[in-house]
Amino acid sequence: MTELNELERIEENSVFSQVASLGHEQVVFCQDQATGLKAIIGIHNTVLGPALGGTRMWNYSSDQEAVTDVLRLSRGMTYKAAITGLNLGGGKAVIIGDASTMKTEAFLRRFGKFIDSLGGKYWTAEDVNMKTRDMKYIGMETRYVTGLPENMGGGGDPSPVTAYGTYLGMKATAKKVFGNDSLAGKKIGVQGVGQVGMYLVDHLKKEDAKVYISDIDESKLKDVSAKTGAEVVGMEEIYDLDMDIYAPCALGATLNDLTIPRLKCQIVAGAANNQLADERKHGYMLIDKGIVYAPDFLINAGGLINVYEEYLGSYNRQRTYDTAEKIYDTCLDTFKVAEEDNISSQEAAIKLAEKRIREIGNIKLPR
Ligand code: NAD
Repeated sequence: MTELNELERIEENSVFSQVASLGHEQVVFCQDQATGLKAIIGIHNTVLGPALGGTRMWNYSSDQEAVTDVLRLSRGMTYKAAITGLNLGGGKAVIIGDASTMKTEAFLRRFGKFIDSLGGKYWTAEDVNMKTRDMKYIGMETRYVTGLPENMGGGGDPSPVTAYGTYLGMKATAKKVFGNDSLAGKKIGVQGVGQVGMYLVDHLKKEDAKVYISDIDESKLKDVSAKTGAEVVGMEEIYDLDMDIYAPCALGATLNDLTIPRLKCQIVAGAANNQLADERKHGYMLIDKGIVYAPDFLINAGGLINVYEEYLGSYNRQRTYDTAEKIYDTCLDTFKVAEEDNISSQEAAIKLAEKRIREIGNIKLPR
């Protein structure tokens, strides 16, 4: 390899070229020797408002893996906020390390100081391995934090709102596919009955849907089936089920080369983030199979709506649910754009999000 080729290769893989290709505004690397803190804050876009998105703590196998995660997740937040009609930009933070041993008070407060130094450009909340208790410590050093407990003026657990939005997104998709939005008698496979999945099952059972559930956690399966009468199926079995709707509510990337050929449903609508392993390829694979996909970042936006209400200053549960109800119409609008432009629903949702950012960005320009 010539020296020039080598330079080009380094350039291609550089953090800056990654940042440029995804269009981020700013990426902040935070390190503190005393507490062992290593964190990255990704600010993707602040046209609509400050970048709000949770902090994820994970034992990443490399710094590069952490960079890729924060860049991808923060870009997703931009689209989620934009299509939901919130005046928020997209951001996310990752902390590198073992959440079970490293999260001391000093560690979290040091992270809070880094957030504070951005002067409100980035607001945080919970994500994987970060709890309400952690937000309390972060909040001792900065006011740019949401996801606080209800007794501190926060919105508490966002999962019920996420489940409600997902349920409405599923109903809108049913309207598109079946001509009406009733889920009565529909066979629905819910993969993962954690915080969101279990509330979703409640909504579905209230509508007399026939619900199947899978989870790696036997005790959760037992609880949810005893409470709701949902039928337990195996972890792999869920992909082969004779069902109308598949609702991924556990992990990302469950729509991939191996699973899509097995699906017999007409709809995929669930709460998990990043369901399509490859956004473009698998979005079109679903279309080819005649399956309508409810874009994940649109129908799982209830959690973001919950923290947005907190960010506005006075958390109001009714207003939160009212905002989440808009997911139904936005979902139908997205399917319309997908049909008119002959693109996948995921691409249509991104198109709508980008359109709002462009239009609102324009009205902010000096005339
Ligand atoms: P959770 O951790 O409470 O629940 C996930 C459940 O999935 C757990 O019960 C877990 O045992 C199960 N699970 C893990 N691997 C599985 C597998 N292979 N098959 C079946 N089940 C499996 O998480 P949650 O808060 O309910 O979130 C669920 C999904 O929704 C996640 O992808 C999350 O990122 C996304 N999401 C959640 C919110 C929210 O408000 N909690 C908001 C937006 C998106």
